[in-house]
Amino acid sequence: MAKIIRVAGPLVEADGMRGHRMYEVVRVGDEGLVGEIIELNRDVASIQVYEETAGIKPGEPVEGTGRPLSVELGPGLLKSMYDGIQRPLDLIRAKVGDYITRGINVPPIDKKKKWDFKPVIKKGAKVTSGDIIGEVEETQVVTHKVMIPPGIEEGTVKEIREGKVTVEETVCVVKDTKGKEHKIMCMQVWPVRKPRPFKEKLPSDIPLVSGQRVFDTFFPLAKGGTAAIPGPFGAGKTVSQHQLAKWVDAKVIIYVGCGERGNEMTEVLETFPHIKDPNNGLPLMERTCLIANTSNMPVAAREASVYTGITLAEYYRDMGYDTALMADSTSRWTEAMREISGRLEEMPGEEGYPAYLASRLAEFYERAGRIRTLGSDDRIGSVSAIGAVSPPGGDFSEPVTQNTLRVTQVFWALDAKLADRRHFPSINWLTSYSMYMPQLTDWFNTEIGEEWVALRTEAMTVLQKESELQEIVQLVGPDALPDRERIVLDIARMLREDFLQQNAFHDVDTFCPPEKQYKMLRLIRDFYEAALSALEGGMDLEDITTVSVITDISKMKYVPFEEFDKEFKNISKKIEEQLGSG
Ligand code: ADP
Repeated sequence: MAKIIRVAGPLVEADGMRGHRMYEVVRVGDEGLVGEIIELNRDVASIQVYEETAGIKPGEPVEGTGRPLSVELGPGLLKSMYDGIQRPLDLIRAKVGDYITRGINVPPIDKKKKWDFKPVIKKGAKVTSGDIIGEVEETQVVTHKVMIPPGIEEGTVKEIREGKVTVEETVCVVKDTKGKEHKIMCMQVWPVRKPRPFKEKLPSDIPLVSGQRVFDTFFPLAKGGTAAIPGPFGAGKTVSQHQLAKWVDAKVIIYVGCGERGNEMTEVLETFPHIKDPNNGLPLMERTCLIANTSNMPVAAREASVYTGITLAEYYRDMGYDTALMADSTSRWTEAMREISGRLEEMPGEEGYPAYLASRLAEFYERAGRIRTLGSDDRIGSVSAIGAVSPPGGDFSEPVTQNTLRVTQVFWALDAKLADRRHFPSINWLTSYSMYMPQLTDWFNTEIGEEWVALRTEAMTVLQKESELQEIVQLVGPDALPDRERIVLDIARMLREDFLQQNAFHDVDTFCPPEKQYKMLRLIRDFYEAALSALEGGMDLEDITTVSVITDISKMKYVPFEEFDKEFKNISKKIEEQLGSG
């Protein structure tokens, strides 16, 4: 009989555990708290417990479930809010009030709800894992594809039904080549620590468009790509995240919140359901699933929540959707890792983090990607992963930030100093980067405009030059600079204020299609060139820097996309008139 022999915070040791397996989920103590075996030494197991362990004592029983930590996948995930081990927060609340009672068992997805299942294949059809057999309207915006789960190589559909079903009712029976029959339901179960299989990984050569100029034009993320975004308090993190959640061209959004303080999570849980999906005016929750660790959940649950989140994202990816996972903040997850590792008395690495910190982070981000799914049709889906990090004191040299940056391909450096100056989104253009540039160049140059890369490079050069010139300006004042360089400063200001700054709360400016981003950059570049030639032609610097088209340029971001072509011609004409040699 397995019994507890020691309780140390979220970690419980039990003996009599021979025969159990690593990562098996167990029920701990008289209350049956949910835990997972994370170390096994003969018959002694170390168990990470996902619930508050106060009050449980040595001698209490431990019971195996025979299953690894898994999630239920099926219609009903969207619009849901879960804790780290996929317990629906509203159901728990309804059952026990605001504080989650321990050992509580609530089904992750509703087993009574009836869904209208529409088959897309017929009896007799040949099927394999990943094939879509039918559809369910999960929400007003997402059609849930019911798939043959992984593990069935070849089979024939013996039966398929239509109409109202619960997620546990058989909708299809498949007979495999060995004659074994498999009952397919609208629901599957999958262990969270195991990546869901796919056919092949594809290159990251299509951008995940966000309509935010600093992201798309300067530091683009690819579909299936990875990004890190630090979250210093007050730097505009929340607004940036909401903008990304609302606007990125992903069908499904999975938001994982690992808050430190209780109110951080409460804020997410309260604000998210009110966010409107700009594409259709419906609540964003119609295509979102929230996973939140509330403050009354112990650290270990944070550890589970990122895996729960990415598994859900992979599941929608397998349907052929682009999904985006946002984890905030991954530092909370790694702190949990550190605490558990400390309690296991493992050899500490840098700053007390376990030696496997780097590999855990890498494994997690490795689950992002644009892929060809299993199944006989040619389906492509993606998981893009955006992880917030919260380095203590904003110091990026600490291990979590460093190890994250080693694996993520994009770094969006939120900068509190920019936020102080009311430069929003406060992404630092000098320290941020995107390694997807070489792979995305083709897409932007063909889909948006052939000068895209050239324009971007030139804009970044001007901003770099500005930061060099600023040192001189601080020493001797702007008057000491040659006229050409003072024009550089003006163009840099234009790029910062008229292009990079983007007001999330303005009806038009909140979203800027890449085509408009491109044209805006072109106008600034055209102005720059015209200003330089006007200077060479003998025009006074004073006159150049006060032409009225500068005002038009400063307002172009507020011109609706449908009217932008006209405005583009208008501004071009004015540049020519006011600075042209004629
Ligand atoms: P954080 O989450 O980092 O504490 P917020 O995202 O709440 O900070 O941003 C703080 C404030 O900054 C917001 O209330 C808003 O006034 C302003 N802000 C941030 N980003 C933008 C943006 N893109 N456009 C306009 N205002 C912004």
